Amino acid sequence: MTSFEDLGLSAAALAAVADLGYEEPTPVQERAIPAVLAGRDVMAAAQTGTGKTAAFLLPALGGLGRVGRREGPRMLVVTPTRELAQQILEVAQAVCAHTHQRAMSVVGGVSYEPQREALKRGCDLLVATPGRLLDLMGTGDCDLGGVRVLVLDEADRMLDMGFLPSMRRIVAACPDDRQTLLFSATLSDDVLKNTGDLVRNPVRVEIAPKGTTAQTVAQYVLGVSAEAKKRTLVEVLRREGSERVIVFTRGKHRADHLCRVLRKKGFSAAPIHGNRTQNQRARALAQFSAGEVGVLVATDVLARGIDVAEVAYVVNVDVPHESENYIHRIGRTGRAGEHGWALMFVDADEFKDLQSIEKLMGRQIESYPRPEGLDVGEHPADLSVVRLTPQPERASGKNRRRRRRSRKEA
Ligand code: AMP
Repeated sequence: MTSFEDLGLSAAALAAVADLGYEEPTPVQERAIPAVLAGRDVMAAAQTGTGKTAAFLLPALGGLGRVGRREGPRMLVVTPTRELAQQILEVAQAVCAHTHQRAMSVVGGVSYEPQREALKRGCDLLVATPGRLLDLMGTGDCDLGGVRVLVLDEADRMLDMGFLPSMRRIVAACPDDRQTLLFSATLSDDVLKNTGDLVRNPVRVEIAPKGTTAQTVAQYVLGVSAEAKKRTLVEVLRREGSERVIVFTRGKHRADHLCRVLRKKGFSAAPIHGNRTQNQRARALAQFSAGEVGVLVATDVLARGIDVAEVAYVVNVDVPHESENYIHRIGRTGRAGEHGWALMFVDADEFKDLQSIEKLMGRQIESYPRPEGLDVGEHPADLSVVRLTPQPERASGKNRRRRRRSRKEA
């Protein structure tokens, strides 16, 4: 078994590892750390939950020395959301406590002035979301000319969010001879096509190939009728416990509504989605982490990237339209070796989305093992059928014609 010591990390980084309580490297750390230490560019397919943050922070910070006043940043991490930035900063601070470097973040949704002031004091590591970083570059408050290591975190997510032009402007402002580390949940053709030129002869690390999910998450589905979902959820929470549970739903209004329903039934629940302010989101997460709120009701905003420890289980009240979001959602439980489980309600209209998810993962999700006595409505979807055909389905002549027609119409 490889240890952190075997990977060649500095004494300060090893002390940080001890503080963080990590005993042995995760697979992405084992593969990425030596490559980063060797100064190579890295392109890694690693979901959140694989330990990727430490995989870039531990080796990179060690090699950078310390900047003086008004200097820096020497390392820049660009990440799509404020929550991710916060999370990265926390790990960075654990490392910086030993390396005596300064880490800070610039993110949107908060005032500019404190960030300007902090930038003036100089920093070794800057963690940033793209919009705010570009603003501060535009006003001359942030100069990336000294960046030696650039990390593009959750690159696929940044593409999905339309950040490609911003990302390119940021990269262009960094020196050409920098080291670039790109992390993405998947290295899809889209990611490779759009970001391939930002890295130079990278070491490729693929830990979570497209469609694989954390091995530690047991997954179940339950056929329900659409109108019964709320009742079924209430019963599931009563049976399985209502502490440290994340409920995913489609749409902000549905999340708010579900929260109100749960509160009326006596659960402590908080919503988290894109319509909530940064403060509301941070507060909900903090209350959840502290155990003051038992159930977090989230849309896919939270599905990626947020690191909440010890989530007991996840309930997907709705099947996500985008199959990959399923993998991000259930990745909230069973993190870093803990055991977790996830349940998804499926109504008749969602059967096709369930099939796409199973096709992506290459396996059929098991039925919920404790359905006895649950109210699943009058016409629950029948999930007892074999949904995954072992061979890729070949379209019949009629289907092929129909597909061709629908392509034309589209
Ligand atoms: P990340 O993929 O960076 O979001 O990390 C996911 C979670 O794994 C965080 O809660 C980390 O604290 C934890 N973690 C990272 N590396 C290790 C490790 N080597 N051993 C145990 N936990 C870890």
